[in-house]
Amino acid sequence: MQADAIVASGLHKSYTTGRVVTPVLRDLSLVLSTGELCLIVGPSGCGKSTLLALLSGLLRPDRGSVRACGSELGRLDVAALDRFRLQHTGFVFQGFNLFPALTALEQVAVPLGYLGLRRDAAYARAAAALDEVGLAARRGARPAELSGGEKQRVAIARALAKQPRLVFADEPTSALDAANGQIVIDLLHRAARRHDTCVVCVSHDPRLIGHADRVLRMEDGRLLSDERRAASPAVPTPETPA
Ligand code: ADP
Repeated sequence: MQADAIVASGLHKSYTTGRVVTPVLRDLSLVLSTGELCLIVGPSGCGKSTLLALLSGLLRPDRGSVRACGSELGRLDVAALDRFRLQHTGFVFQGFNLFPALTALEQVAVPLGYLGLRRDAAYARAAAALDEVGLAARRGARPAELSGGEKQRVAIARALAKQPRLVFADEPTSALDAANGQIVIDLLHRAARRHDTCVVCVSHDPRLIGHADRVLRMEDGRLLSDERRAASPAVPTPETPA
């Protein structure tokens, strides 16, 4: 059953460099649901990453509010915001952000320790998450031994293993070829449905549009359109090119 995962109201955000104030978001409001992948598309510089940072509590708006998983983020102090992100959010980045020295299994298991999981529980959960992204056989590989597509799948497993209510993906397919980009977006899409997660993905890549449940188009710090889509079915298994 879909429920409101994020309610953002009247967001304004500017960056100030010296005396120059650059308005980036202008009175932006939206409601995002659990159980679906919402893709936010728009040209480079239109404010997508800034919006993601506000929705995930990494940045505070100049005006407006974000309510996520029942918490009013503006009312949380820094420590409470850190706890909120630890408990409720997973992140997937363009550059994968993996530790060179760790195996795929360790990349996923080690952060679970911060959630208070015991070592054996963390490793069992990490193994299940790698299985979900089709990398069970690669659990002992380090980043240097993995292709770009495999690295991003490890990063997705790391985000999903926390069992977060919210997953934020910032240009997760930009460093990948078309086939791997499709695998990655389909994994995120499937995870949203399977775990009733709210997945918010920003991208300037229009090829991802067909793989989302909902597409928000941004331009110049504003939402231009909000479209629900019948997304194409997810690929049957991620055991395809990596
Ligand atoms: P997008 O993700 O759509 O490419 P961003 O949210 O990254 O857009 O950036 C929107 C605008 O804000 C751009 O003009 C960018 O140069 C500017 N910007 C982003 N981050 C900062 C910052 N920390 N300081 C100053 N300007 C910034």
